[in-house]
Amino acid sequence: MDQRLPHLTSRLQGLGVTVFAEMSRLAVEHDAVNLGQGFPDFDPDPRVTEAAIAAIREGHNQYAPGNGLPPLRQAISEHQRRFWGLDWDPESEVTVAAGATEALAAALLALCDTGDEVLLLEPYYDAYVAGVRMAGAVPTPVTLRPPRFTFDPEELTAAVSARTRAIVVNSPHNPTGKVFTDTELEAIAACCLEHDLVALTDEVYEHLVYDGSHTPLASLPGMQERTVQISSAAKTFSVTGWKIGWFCAPPELTRAVRTAKQFLTFTNGTPFQHAITQALTFEDAFFDAQADAFRARRDRLAAGLAEAGLDPLPSHGSYFVVADVAPLGYDDDVAFCLDAPAKLGVAAVPCSGFYLDPRRGRGLVRFAFCKTDAVLDDGVQRLRAGTHA
Ligand code: PMP
Ligand code: GLN
Repeated sequence: MDQRLPHLTSRLQGLGVTVFAEMSRLAVEHDAVNLGQGFPDFDPDPRVTEAAIAAIREGHNQYAPGNGLPPLRQAISEHQRRFWGLDWDPESEVTVAAGATEALAAALLALCDTGDEVLLLEPYYDAYVAGVRMAGAVPTPVTLRPPRFTFDPEELTAAVSARTRAIVVNSPHNPTGKVFTDTELEAIAACCLEHDLVALTDEVYEHLVYDGSHTPLASLPGMQERTVQISSAAKTFSVTGWKIGWFCAPPELTRAVRTAKQFLTFTNGTPFQHAITQALTFEDAFFDAQADAFRARRDRLAAGLAEAGLDPLPSHGSYFVVADVAPLGYDDDVAFCLDAPAKLGVAAVPCSGFYLDPRRGRGLVRFAFCKTDAVLDDGVQRLRAGTHA
């Protein structure tokens, strides 16, 4: 049967509805515990929300400058220096975007010509493949292998062709919770330098690292000149609905990406930009406390999944832990995730859709731990019981 959607361009055929929206819909329909979509079910720090409310009351309700509020760009630049030792000029190298998602889309639209190839380490966050296709470019997979989701540097180099323009690197990693090691980052940097690739780094979980530490790819020798470093306030401050993100890149790359960005949203979220300007200046203890709280949630969910008979793979960062659902009697992650809301009362996200060839991720399911203890415990209890009351 022809599955093609009428009206939809060939570039977007096959992208359908995001798996996160689909699983959240099933969770609501079956009153299931939602361990699928990655959003916190608790409130942000009141200082963050009060700052946004104050900004609205103070009349900051019209368009912000297209590149972002100058004080926010200054705060992003200072945050980069404070935590990662990177110097980005707020005027010519820092730009605010409508979430990391828009920054990534703008970068791909601006930097890829039709038919250019973009390396994606799979499993990947689904917006990458969509962004690559919307730009008329072609995704080239390099597979990360469980349990540690490592890659073979030779496979990486072998995936490069004369048309390869860029690589997308996401660390800490969604969906696996992997934090790339310095050796892995060095192999990626060597490949970028040898083949003159641009690196698009997605660092939205930069502060959510539970073992080891985060190293931005841009901090490796020769890389800042060729990196578009992308991040967002969403995860660090538990404000996924605010869509305040940013990208830092050298002036030439910044000019290119701003060209696309100004015609996507132009600008967004003025009062939220004001609030994030303040949040980025919070004391170090705030950022440490975030990592500590999420580490405890990771430990709670990983232990619970193990008690429920699953064998969760190591997660060192992000909101997520991945497990093979074979012990629950499933060899297909999609079948499990379609059944689980009704049968077990739990929603999760299948990973096979995060691979260019879904067979490579068959059986792997992602569980989100950015939830209150009560919700995590309820989810685990339901998985253990094996039936939805
Ligand atoms: N990148 C990754 C790896 C993500 O998990 C997400 C989703 N939270 C995003 C980007 C989207 O970030 P934003 O909401 O800032 O667009
Ligand atoms: N980034 C979140 C996740 O991976 C939400 C993504 C979305 O809903 N598009 O679950």
